[in-house]
Amino acid sequence: KVEPGSDDRFLFYSEEMDQRAKDHLRLETELRAALADNQLELHYQPKVSLRSGRIVGCEALVRWRHPERGMVSPAEFIPLAEETGLIFEIGGWVLEEACRQIRAWKDAGLAMPPVAVNLSARQFDRRLPSRILAVLDRHGVLPQQIMLEITESLLVGGADNVIAIMNELVAMGLALALDDFGTGYSSLAYLKKFPISTLKIDRSFVIGLPDEENDCAIARAIVTMAQQLRQEIVAEGVETPEQMAFLRDLGCDQLQGYLFSPAVTAVEFARMLRDGERLMVGRATAT
Ligand code: C2E
Ligand code: MG
Ligand code: MG
Ligand code: MG
Repeated sequence: KVEPGSDDRFLFYSEEMDQRAKDHLRLETELRAALADNQLELHYQPKVSLRSGRIVGCEALVRWRHPERGMVSPAEFIPLAEETGLIFEIGGWVLEEACRQIRAWKDAGLAMPPVAVNLSARQFDRRLPSRILAVLDRHGVLPQQIMLEITESLLVGGADNVIAIMNELVAMGLALALDDFGTGYSSLAYLKKFPISTLKIDRSFVIGLPDEENDCAIARAIVTMAQQLRQEIVAEGVETPEQMAFLRDLGCDQLQGYLFSPAVTAVEFARMLRDGERLMVGRATAT
């Protein structure tokens, strides 16, 4: 016996799924066009040293300047790009653009700190090191200038080839950071196997500092662990002076967050590097 209304419900779900598939397809088509049409941009968010209060690095974050919808967040299109394989082209563009920009900054006489680039797990294949080397060479950029941010999902498989690729990248002179740390499943024992020089505490644990006891305990455990493993520790999403003070007392090395600056355009970042540092010193070292 057929339940009354079950047909309607089925119809409803299938229409909804249909709509989602259409939205996906449209976004994918638009994203392809965006790549061809130069609608992607890199913005740069400073990383501030807790010791000196200076900008000691930055993270390149991709932005999509959509002709009708304005700025589209990577949170909206990176997952789709990963699904469809477009991430290979986007990832290639991001690396190329970061190196082109670093070259231009250097040519303009700026003292450039390392620039971190986010990598999706799918980009992590055996040809990655030689691809990166080719881009660096093309722009005359040293590998020491680049840090790669990867996520725990890459480690969890623990595949030998992942470790081999990481070792190759590190041997080339690139640094590896583990992004969004604490949101995945890696353990202390696990981390030791990978040549990672920097841990980034995920924003979700920073939000509750210093009031949420659980977040404080997690942040403390992560910093202690990183210190044992001689890794640098960066906290992301720092928005308040109270969070900054707590992280400083824990012995965190670098902070990133709206308290200092959101990701800004290349022009704005160059300006900050040139003369914005006093502002950082004032904020980061205020006790
Ligand atoms: P992520 O790598 O963890 O980057 C940090 C995100 O937190 C960025 O969001 C940044 O703008 C945001 N953020 C920084 N400080 C604060 C803060 O104080 N408060 C708050 N509420 N947010 C803050 P965004 O730029 O939207 O990027 C989102 C995610 O998209 C990134 O997370 C990264 O996973 C991914 N992504 C961005 N660019 C790329 C890229 O070029 N390639 C790949 N594969 N992924 C990228
Ligand atoms: Mg990142
Ligand atoms: Mg992160
Ligand atoms: Mg994050």
